[in-house]
Amino acid sequence: MNIALIAHDKKKDNLIRFVQKYKSIFTNHQLFATGTTGQRIIDETGLDVHRFQSGPLGGDQEIGAFIANHKMDLILFFRDPLTAQPHEPDVSALIRLCDVYSVPLATNNGTAEILVKAVERGEVENRSTLKKNEREEGN
Ligand code: PGA
Repeated sequence: MNIALIAHDKKKDNLIRFVQKYKSIFTNHQLFATGTTGQRIIDETGLDVHRFQSGPLGGDQEIGAFIANHKMDLILFFRDPLTAQPHEPDVSALIRLCDVYSVPLATNNGTAEILVKAVERGEVENRSTLKKNEREEGN
C-alpha cells in the first residue's frame, strides 16, 4: 500500500505522534511525504519515507501526480485550518484529485485514526490493482 503523509507546520507534531503510535502498521507499507514532513518522520520514527519536494515548492502537486497515475492508495493530510497557506491552490487541487479518483483521504487526526485501522484490517483498496473500469465508475 502506498501511503502519503503531509502535515502543515502547526500539525507536524500531531502527525509525528500519530505515526509513532501506529508505527507497527506503517512499517508494512511504502510511505511518501512532502519534504519537511518526511524528514521529520525519518528522524523521529526511523521509518523509511520517500520524500517529495516541500509542500509550498510543489510537493502536494507531486503527490497529486501519483494519485492521477493510480499510484497512491491513501492520503493522510494533517491540515491546519486556521493558518493561510501560500500554496492553498495546490492543497485544494490535491483534495480535488482524491475525489476524482476516489482515493481515501483524511484531513484530520480523527479520520486518520479510522483509516489507518482500516488499512490494518486490509480493507483499503490497492489502487494499482483495482480494475480500471471500477476506477472509472468511481467505486
Ligand atoms: P512540508 O509540506 O512537509 O514540506 O512542510 C507540507 C505542506 O505545507 O504542504
